[in-house]
Amino acid sequence: MGTAKLTFWGAAGQVTGSMHLLEAAGARILLDAGLFQGHRAEAAALNANLAFDPRRIDAIVVSHAHLDHIGRLPLLVRHGYHGAIYATPATRDLCAVMLPDAAHIQESDAAYLAKRGKKGPESEPLYNLADALAVQELIVGLPYRRIHFLRKNLAFEYTDAGHILGSASVDLRLTEGAPQRIVFSGDIGRVGLPIIRDPEPPSGLIDTLIVESTYGDRDHESVSGSEEHLGEVVRKVVARGGKVLIPSFALGRVQEIVYALHELSDAKKIPGITIYVDSPLAVDATAVFRLHPEVFDRREQLLANSDLAFDFPLVRYVRSVEESKKLNTMNGPAVIIAASGMLEAGRILHHLANHIGDPKNCVLFVGFQAENTLGRRIQEGAKQVKIFGELHDARAEVQTISGYSAHADRTELRAWVRRLGGPIRRAFVVHGEPAPAAAMAQILKEEGVPDVVVPGLGESFDL
Ligand SMILES: [Zn+2]
Ligand SMILES: [Zn+2]
Repeated sequence: MGTAKLTFWGAAGQVTGSMHLLEAAGARILLDAGLFQGHRAEAAALNANLAFDPRRIDAIVVSHAHLDHIGRLPLLVRHGYHGAIYATPATRDLCAVMLPDAAHIQESDAAYLAKRGKKGPESEPLYNLADALAVQELIVGLPYRRIHFLRKNLAFEYTDAGHILGSASVDLRLTEGAPQRIVFSGDIGRVGLPIIRDPEPPSGLIDTLIVESTYGDRDHESVSGSEEHLGEVVRKVVARGGKVLIPSFALGRVQEIVYALHELSDAKKIPGITIYVDSPLAVDATAVFRLHPEVFDRREQLLANSDLAFDFPLVRYVRSVEESKKLNTMNGPAVIIAASGMLEAGRILHHLANHIGDPKNCVLFVGFQAENTLGRRIQEGAKQVKIFGELHDARAEVQTISGYSAHADRTELRAWVRRLGGPIRRAFVVHGEPAPAAAMAQILKEEGVPDVVVPGLGESFDL
């Protein structure tokens, strides 16, 4: 005993910045290397301030390709990390599109702030494109359920977390001294999500569980109800000759919406209008989906016999700026899906500026809108909004579908814990704001875990 130690360097008392340091079997292993997101100055300070020397880390194991789990990999490489980075093959390929995009945003944000005379960590890019590309040379793809030895006495395997394409939970076995099993949940998905398989938690006795808690205190709308709702909105808006604008996260949500529209179109539940996916990052991410049919859920009808889920006659993928601009002058009904999901940046803003003034159109929210974002203001019914410094009357209809979440809700988190089978000796609750984390801790106690901790940032524990 006492041979292993765990330190929480992110997603501790908050959702973003996932990064946990495991010291065991003479090795220092990082679980995730995520970016802190949110309030700009605060996040920049947290991101820039690495608490350890990356050159002294022996291996990195990442759970999935959301930036709050991989977004600091280029920073670690920039500061000398040169060991292996383990990821599932789909996560590895998603990293190849997500990290260069993140580097581009780092560089352009920093340039913008520097031009305005801003000093401090937020006016320095955390990393650049070369750092992002250097990460890719270190990533080793490891499929689900294949045991890999990090050290003679320390092995792990991935199991499907059912959250986004390639997402995984990490099941670690330490056989030095008293044997220990350590499970890191990663982000846990929902049962019945389109495209990907349902979560497959590791089962049996667990000595230490590190578990997410994003929605530990609430339940979501059902997955199937969301598709019906989407069909209804499209039918209604098209019937009156309007456009449906869908602000969306480029990874995961865009592909889910395209997939749902494909199903609705096959079932003749929406008319034959064009669906534009106007986001280069979303187009690239969709290409990675096409490369990884091995992780699709073949029980779904659309995927039973075909890998063409994202290619059907109605959908057009728009990459070039010229083609995107042409959409501005296009008449008649259409669906336009573009990033960013909270209307803070990206091509969706041009479409919004062009279409928000017309009551025939509809802005359809399919993702969470954080406080102080343009998305939140429109969702709450603002009569006028500022886009690119100009005031616009917000006359378009506003709709929200709350069922599109990639995260397990309260009921699904409890079901996931039950499927672990247990017993679980000790659990650490991470990746949640204080209230949902406390609710998740309560769930774990109710499920018989004797020792439950919600760790703070930088806290260490002997295992
Ligand atoms: Zn995630
Ligand atoms: Zn996350």
